[in-house]
Amino acid sequence: MNSEYASHPTAPADSSYLPGPVLLIGPPGVGKGTQAKTLMAEFGIPQISTGDLFREHRRQRTELGLIAEKLMVLGQLVPDNLVNQMVARRLSDPDCKRGYILDGFPRTLAQAAWLDEHLGEANSCPVVAISLTADRDDLLKRITGRRICPQGHIYNVYTEPPRVEGVCDVDGCPLELRRDDTEEIFESRMKIFEAETAPVISHYHTEGRFAEVNGLHRVDTVTRDIRAQLERLRTEPSMAACAAQRA
Ligand SMILES: [Zn+2]
Repeated sequence: MNSEYASHPTAPADSSYLPGPVLLIGPPGVGKGTQAKTLMAEFGIPQISTGDLFREHRRQRTELGLIAEKLMVLGQLVPDNLVNQMVARRLSDPDCKRGYILDGFPRTLAQAAWLDEHLGEANSCPVVAISLTADRDDLLKRITGRRICPQGHIYNVYTEPPRVEGVCDVDGCPLELRRDDTEEIFESRMKIFEAETAPVISHYHTEGRFAEVNGLHRVDTVTRDIRAQLERLRTEPSMAACAAQRA
């Protein structure tokens, strides 16, 4: 088969080489969202985001959605048990059969342990985690240096400055700083990331279902590196059996 055909989005047979559910993990601003979108398109698989699940359950006023809403109104955290139930239901949908990208879940060690058990019971491939890494100072520059044109063109005062300061090269519009792109907001997100995610990373690391990819390279280079790591993980003995069974 010619490779161009094999990678066509309408030929999701390509996704048979995904070793299983893929968790993209990484600090704020490292580019998880962009990479998730590319993987979804390439493999024809969905992204499972707990944020989306919450919104959907609340919109449809399901039992789980109503309980979650009540807790949030009271300013309480939605317990793992409830989040897990929402995820379990979503993973039983047919579009998840050939793999999926996990976004924002598992966020804690307890959720990761639950997911392992759940996937084991469902006879599904285990999760592999791809950690997108970046130096903290580089990330900070990426975020605080970002300038946006109202027409959607994006610059960075450190790495991709416009020819004239504060003005878009393409259309001459004034460039703006997004409200969330401040050092303060970055630092608080970074703190949460470090506290919550470090145990999740080490969980997958110790089980050999883990790879690191430098998230500061060009977007297409990062995509290529993620694909290479997924290929490598697929040949791990525990994954190979699973992938062959599902191909
Ligand atoms: Zn512009």
